[in-house]
Amino acid sequence: MSIFQLSSLVANLSDCKQKLFQRIYDLDILPGRLKLVNGVREWTAKRFGSVEEVEKQKIVRITNLITGEGALFNHLRGKRPVDAHQDRDLDALVDSYRQGCPFCSPLKRTPADAFGRIEGVYCTTAANVAKYDGFHSLVIPREHHPLKFNQTMVEDYFRVAARWFIEASRYAAKEGDRGVYYPFLMWNCLWPAGSSVVHGHLQLTLTRGRHYPKIDWLRRCSLSYQREYGSNYFKDLYDVHSCLGLGWSRDAARYMTILTPIKEKETWIIIPGHAGPELLVSAGRSVFGVLDSLKEKAALNSFNVVLYLPPLNKGVQGWSDFPLIARVVDRGSVFSRTADVGAMELYATSVISSDPFAVAQLLRPQ
Ligand SMILES: [Zn+2]
Repeated sequence: MSIFQLSSLVANLSDCKQKLFQRIYDLDILPGRLKLVNGVREWTAKRFGSVEEVEKQKIVRITNLITGEGALFNHLRGKRPVDAHQDRDLDALVDSYRQGCPFCSPLKRTPADAFGRIEGVYCTTAANVAKYDGFHSLVIPREHHPLKFNQTMVEDYFRVAARWFIEASRYAAKEGDRGVYYPFLMWNCLWPAGSSVVHGHLQLTLTRGRHYPKIDWLRRCSLSYQREYGSNYFKDLYDVHSCLGLGWSRDAARYMTILTPIKEKETWIIIPGHAGPELLVSAGRSVFGVLDSLKEKAALNSFNVVLYLPPLNKGVQGWSDFPLIARVVDRGSVFSRTADVGAMELYATSVISSDPFAVAQLLRPQ
């Protein structure tokens, strides 16, 4: 199956699933015609295999009508094989940053939070020197190599994150701050993902008063959807992906290779529940599973992970149905000089090479 067969796949769904798809998504297939001149014919045939396919390209445009997210998939880009081999020695490059690495001796070379450090088995926390927000800290693994982690380690990082969220909000309350705090976790791995330090690290923030705009926008969209259709947006989103073969579940976690990825191979994991340590550990397990499969099967070496989380305070209006959402995205090879994000992604819509059906094939349990 492929994204280029999506319209026939949708046409074969039951009436009620088709309606659900059309409620959430608009799908358009666009022809991209061009005429090759003799000077590029040979190169084109070599690069893309078929001159005819290049002259009659197919573009799939998908728009999420509820949230406004969108993606463009090009037939030719989708046809390019997934590169599963490193052409250069990333381990040696990572090793060359060990000398003088501040995160290899965090207790001596990183600041602590005002309320101290949270120690895990495989990591510790540190305050961020230049904060984005009032509360902004790091989870620093003891392992230097940002791509060397196993399930137990990632569970530990996420457990420590949950403990940090609790400690930081207790500290705020002790300081007399009665505001509502919204937790956020991000994990940027290596340069393409925007990470400035090679040593692996996760970042945690706790923001006051309202959640970050993109998260709050998603919540507002889900509330409007609930009001209009009397149904839970996240459940319906999963149902649409699941009936197309793009969604699967394991325990309480629901996985989707999303139809409007922000960038390559984006995978969503949705887990309902209160954002305490138990839920975060289970998110850690799921995120690890996705990262590990992508590392092994698709040569993942730079990625972003975020966790969208409801506020720590229970009973905050408008948040009761907002689940934990993890988003995992491949940021391309560390050896590529071209950024994967250009003007289209910044200001218009995402242009995607990876086919969500191929990614689902890689990630779904067989
Ligand atoms: Zn290090």
